[in-house]
Amino acid sequence: MTDTRFHAPERLDEAIGLLTADDEARPLAGGQTLVAMLNAELLRPRAIVSLHRIAALKGVERRAGGSLWIGAMTTHSALAASAELRGAHRLLAEAAARIGHEAIRNRGTIGGAVAHADPSADYPAALVALDAEIEIEGPRGKRSLPAHQFFRGFLTTALEPGELVTGVVLLPGPAKAATRFEKLARVEGDFATASVAVVLGLDAGRVTSARLTLGGCGSVPIQSIEAEQIIAGHTLSDAVLKKAGELLAAAADPIDDVRGTAAYRRAIIPGLVARAVRSALAKGAA
Ligand SMILES: Cc1cc2nc3c(=O)[nH]c(=O)nc-3n(C[C@H](O)[C@H](O)[C@H](O)COP(=O)(O)OP(=O)(O)OC[C@H]3O[C@@H](n4cnc5c(N)ncnc54)[C@H](O)[C@@H]3O)c2cc1C
Repeated sequence: MTDTRFHAPERLDEAIGLLTADDEARPLAGGQTLVAMLNAELLRPRAIVSLHRIAALKGVERRAGGSLWIGAMTTHSALAASAELRGAHRLLAEAAARIGHEAIRNRGTIGGAVAHADPSADYPAALVALDAEIEIEGPRGKRSLPAHQFFRGFLTTALEPGELVTGVVLLPGPAKAATRFEKLARVEGDFATASVAVVLGLDAGRVTSARLTLGGCGSVPIQSIEAEQIIAGHTLSDAVLKKAGELLAAAADPIDDVRGTAAYRRAIIPGLVARAVRSALAKGAA
């Protein structure tokens, strides 16, 4: 049996120092994934570095120019209920509300979920659809990456040793936006078999821009510029929605797993996409 040291620093630089000094140290956020992995003995870290006392990782702040900064330690419940998530940013609240069960949402954090990078998780597709930036800090200083560059593969991100996700920045979206996070799961509270994150820019009732991203249908969130181009600026007939869904299904790279086969996922994508776009339009601009 391995002895595991527990650290609970108050400063971000201390946490980064502890993680950099020991390549078998692990940060602890909400523990909803990490503790399950420890219990299953999938991991035996030499040290655990709790992020709970670090004030620099907490809070939701509006910044100059209309961006919104969300600290890495913000829980899913706080985001689901946040009045700061308005317009296009509502998409993130919708995704947060669909994560697991209340107990998981009350403890799990956006930083932990983003760093874990489960392809079936709900935030990655929403963050890519929102063109969010992931803020990172480590032994070599601060950097940030667009979400679509941060997620690199199955449980794999651009994080280097000793680096932490410190926050997520949502850039201002379209002035009027309609959103929908559509998730198909085997039962309520499960990870997605497939999900679709939609942000539509609206002007006088017309769709002027569209971001559509699939979750659970590849090792990273899936996008199709062609699908977005045929939604934006066109009358959204059944045929147009079907074509957009087919383009996304063709771009997807799903696998067979306990939540569904690759063939099943490809088959349901067009219907999910059409439902997501119609639901966003029915709801209208937030
Ligand atoms: C039963 C169950 C159902 C779930 N259902 C869903 C679901 O439907 N949808 C969904 O999206 N998720 C779901 N989850 C996962 C949940 O969202 C977790 O909250 C999330 O994956 C991890 O967040 P956490 O804060 O608990 O991180 P932790 O468990 O503390 O950490 C997760 C990993 O990230 C690392 N880490 C934590 N914080 C940081 C940071 N700031 N920087 C760098 N690395 C960090 C840890 O070392 C660890 O490797 C579910 C989990 C459970 C247990």
